[in-house]
Amino acid sequence: MNIVVTGGAGFIGSHLVDALLARGDSVVVFDDLSTGTPENLASALASGRCELRVQDVSQGIDCDIRVQEVYHLASPASPPAYLAHPLETLAVGSEGTRHALELARRDGANFLLASTSEVYGDPVEHPQRESYWGNVNPVGPRSVYDEAKRFAEALTTAYRCTHQLPVAIVRIFNTFGPRLAEGDGRVVSNFICQSLRGEPLTVYGTGEQTRSLCYVSDLVRGLQLACATAFGEPINLGNPNEMTVLDIATLILGATGSASEIVHQPLPQDDPTRRRPDIERAATVLGWSPAIDVATGIEMTVTHFAKQLGLR
Ligand code: UDP
Repeated sequence: MNIVVTGGAGFIGSHLVDALLARGDSVVVFDDLSTGTPENLASALASGRCELRVQDVSQGIDCDIRVQEVYHLASPASPPAYLAHPLETLAVGSEGTRHALELARRDGANFLLASTSEVYGDPVEHPQRESYWGNVNPVGPRSVYDEAKRFAEALTTAYRCTHQLPVAIVRIFNTFGPRLAEGDGRVVSNFICQSLRGEPLTVYGTGEQTRSLCYVSDLVRGLQLACATAFGEPINLGNPNEMTVLDIATLILGATGSASEIVHQPLPQDDPTRRRPDIERAATVLGWSPAIDVATGIEMTVTHFAKQLGLR
């Protein structure tokens, strides 16, 4: 197949591109390189079946080849990244999504929207099922991401209903693995880099807040299944193994053999207190469940960062 991946130079996008190439597809990546890097695509570009077009998809998508699948992942995704670029985040979630949907409509391609567990905000229902409408502060700092993705879900649904476009909406829960950017600010990359450098681990708030961490190869397998299936309704993708942030710190200290201490810093505004996906729909509709346990995934990620930081 010929496939478009917006945001394909990013963390999840580049792993998706590698998986699509491995199954024999050709891929055109549209990415403005605001948070992604060409280095993430080094092996993909060397394959001769991947092309990188540096373009901001909120301005348009100039795609001259006919495509069978469109994966729309383009967006700043880590809290520091989207908080630093509020208007761009809203633009790519709205106009960027519309351009990606129009491309899929032009070619009758299957369309996948990379949505997020952030649509649930600070959830009152736990674990989160897809039927839960969420608890989002529409004018809080995170709203630029949360509401952009909620709008993107609404727009995708409108294209499904109005134009009968085959669509998949996946709500991605916290994902980690190699190619998380070092300065990205997310919990796993921060704690691993801090541990490896012998710096204190910065736990925000008490560290009692929870997240559920999914290894990137599991997530990418789910994206491929979801796009092929085009179920229409949202599907959670994540690993339901819920941990507190302090548990994550302890796990990473153990995996790195680090003697770093833990320091507490202020909790960011509207930081969700807990998060765990209900993945029954993914299991039923896609036959998907995560296969890599968190400890194994953390070990592989530590190996990656140790090499990147030139420490091992
Ligand atoms: N966090 C932390 N220390 C860090 C980075 C993050 O304690 O150095 C916390 C953050 O407050 C949140 C959780 O870890 O409760 C996950 O944060 P992340 O930015 O990875 O993703 P989020 O789930 O908030 O989008």
